[in-house]
Amino acid sequence: MAGTIATRYTADRLWTPQGWTSDALLEVDDGGMLAGVGAGEGERLGRWVLPGMPNLHSHAFQRAMAGLAERKGKSDDSFWTWRETMYAFAATIGPDELQAIAAQLYVEMLKAGYTQVCEFHYLHHQPDGTPYAQPEAMSLALIEAAREAGIALTLLPVLYMSGGFDGRPLAPRQRRFGHDVPSYLRLLESLRAHESDKLRVGIALHSLRAVPEDALRQILANDASKDCPIHIHIAEQIGEVQDCLATRGARPVEWLFDHAPVDARWTLVHATHLSDAETAQIARSGAVAGLCPTTEANLGDGLFPLADYIDAKGTLGVGSDSHISVSPVEELRWLEYGQRLSTRHRNIAACHQGDSVGETLWRAALHGGATASGLPIGELRANARADLLVLDDRAPLLAARDERSVIDSFLFAGNASLVRDVMVGGEWVVRGFVHRDEERIAARYRSVMERLAQH
Ligand SMILES: [Zn+2]
Repeated sequence: MAGTIATRYTADRLWTPQGWTSDALLEVDDGGMLAGVGAGEGERLGRWVLPGMPNLHSHAFQRAMAGLAERKGKSDDSFWTWRETMYAFAATIGPDELQAIAAQLYVEMLKAGYTQVCEFHYLHHQPDGTPYAQPEAMSLALIEAAREAGIALTLLPVLYMSGGFDGRPLAPRQRRFGHDVPSYLRLLESLRAHESDKLRVGIALHSLRAVPEDALRQILANDASKDCPIHIHIAEQIGEVQDCLATRGARPVEWLFDHAPVDARWTLVHATHLSDAETAQIARSGAVAGLCPTTEANLGDGLFPLADYIDAKGTLGVGSDSHISVSPVEELRWLEYGQRLSTRHRNIAACHQGDSVGETLWRAALHGGATASGLPIGELRANARADLLVLDDRAPLLAARDERSVIDSFLFAGNASLVRDVMVGGEWVVRGFVHRDEERIAARYRSVMERLAQH
């Protein structure tokens, strides 16, 4: 139900799925939703106004270890050696630390242009695996961090049950991630009580190696999984594809489609190593390919088959995942650059002559990110949440840019962020490049990091 109109804004240029419109009036109601978009006069926002970008994949705690795994080890460094560093770091973090780290990360996300984050959250219990007195304490720390920062959250508590495709139990350092199906469903139910316009609760299955077939079936049969986003890590690593073939006789994406009704509720995170048939199958299903190019580059995962997937009209979005970088601009730029480097061609994401690569990618990631978030976002239209970015029209880089070139300049040419103001659900959280509570949140983050460094 639409609320009362609280504020009217006018955008000199407003970015819509069809392209730029001039002098667009945005009517925001007192619930933070857009009541209407049309013509008329309101408070002037600035020259270039875009929808905020959803970040479809985040492990917030990993922001605090970004840069700590870039020194050559004894053996051949890979995703699996990085994971050891990550496990050791994860063991030092409790609810207070998680809230401090996540709030700082979310401030950085907002300033970079993300207005929604899907938090793929598996750090559930105490480091030895014992549940906290309040079993959902770590999830509540994330909810509180998002509230403090003013970012909207799709919280995806993760079901993590086994340490490999063979169903082996969790290793000691994985125990704090673990649930059985009944305790997982209880967690889900208790978190759903907190849902609001800015908080959606969905389901995450860590990966096929961490969720046995029987558990997958139980989750999908349960009413709790109906009509909510379902995210899963899949086919990120060649080793994972080989293990799946050896134990289950099929490639991961192939196996998932044979055992689950994969559709637009699903986000397949990474989906890096795909056969042609799997690429076409994901595209046809309406599921979102959750791409995290800067993390995938940092971990040496490989390249997603972008051109084939876009040709097949697949849905995609981006996430900052391990937070080695926190910027939708950088994710989309590297999504395109990876393809250019491997194919030795330019302008890969655009399909037709004259299409803009930047607009194609920004539009695709808004749509896929919104689908993955399970909320009415990603477009500035009536009945969508009022999440918007105002670019810095005084930036020299944008001087003399017009409707045809501004998004490409924003995505490909910027180094400093061009995002000047950010609104989430009708509330200004960043104005003039400054977040409303950034000093306090950064000071708390620094003191938590200094304490953790003494461990
Ligand atoms: Zn991940």
